[in-house]
Amino acid sequence: MRYWLMTSLFTFCAFYHVQMFNKILPRTKMPTNTRKYLDTLTKDQLKEIWRTADAVCFDVDSTIVQEEGIDELAEFCGVGEAVKQWTIQAMGGNIRFRTALETRLNMCNLTLEQLERYKKEKPLTLTAGIKELIGHLHSEKIPVFLISGGFRQLNVPLAHRLNIPSENVFSVELLFDSDGRYHGFNKNNPTSDSGGKTKVVHRLKDKYGFKRLIMIGDGATDMETCPPADGFIGFGGNVIRDKVREHSPWFVTSFQELLDELKVSN
Ligand SMILES: [Mg+2]
Repeated sequence: MRYWLMTSLFTFCAFYHVQMFNKILPRTKMPTNTRKYLDTLTKDQLKEIWRTADAVCFDVDSTIVQEEGIDELAEFCGVGEAVKQWTIQAMGGNIRFRTALETRLNMCNLTLEQLERYKKEKPLTLTAGIKELIGHLHSEKIPVFLISGGFRQLNVPLAHRLNIPSENVFSVELLFDSDGRYHGFNKNNPTSDSGGKTKVVHRLKDKYGFKRLIMIGDGATDMETCPPADGFIGFGGNVIRDKVREHSPWFVTSFQELLDELKVSN
C-alpha cells in the first residue's frame, strides 16, 4: 500500500511538472527551412529520390523497432509511467531533448547490471518488414545508417541483427562508474541534444558526399533532418504522430510499401 502511494505520488508529481514546464516553454515550431522544403516536395519527387537514394538513414525507436526504448527501460526500472509522460513531450519537440533525456535517465537510476539484464530479458522487437527492406538496400550496395536519440548499448546489438556496422550507428552512450552505477551519458554524442540528428546527416553528407540521402522515422526530430536530408519519409507503422503525418509528402505505415516501390523500379 505504502509503495503504491509513493509510486502514485511520484507519477503525479512528474506528470504535473511536465505539464507546467510545457506551459511556460514556447512550443517549438518546425524549422522554416524544413517546412519550406517539405511543402514543395511532391510525393512523386520523393518517390523518385527514394528509388535512386545513395544512402538511407533510419530512426530506431518506434521505427525499426516497435518499442520506445527509454520507456521500456523505465518500465523495467519501475518508473514507467512517469518517464512515458516526459517521452511524449520530448517526441513532440516541446522540451529541449537533453533536458528530457537527463531527467528521464535520472528517474531510472539505472545500474550496469540492470542494463545487461534488460538486454537479455527484453530483446527489442523488429518492426515487420524492416529486415527485408534493409537486406534489399544492402544487396543494392546502398549504405544504411541508424540515427537515434536512444542508447548505443541497445542500438549496436540491434544494428548487428540487421547487418549494419557499428560505425553506422549514431546514438547516445550511457556511462557507468567503476561500481556499475549510472554516471550520465556521453554529451559528445550529437544525438544527445536537440538538432543532433540534423547534425549527423550534415556530417554524413560532408564525409561521403551523398546526394540523395533519405531519412525515415516517426518523430518530429526525424522530419527536421530535411534538409540537409534530401528526402524524409514519415513512418507510422508503430505510432502515428499528427505533425509528422501532416507534413510528410509520403507517409507510410508499412515497410513493405517502401520495398515494393524499390522492386517496381528494378
Ligand atoms: Mg522514433
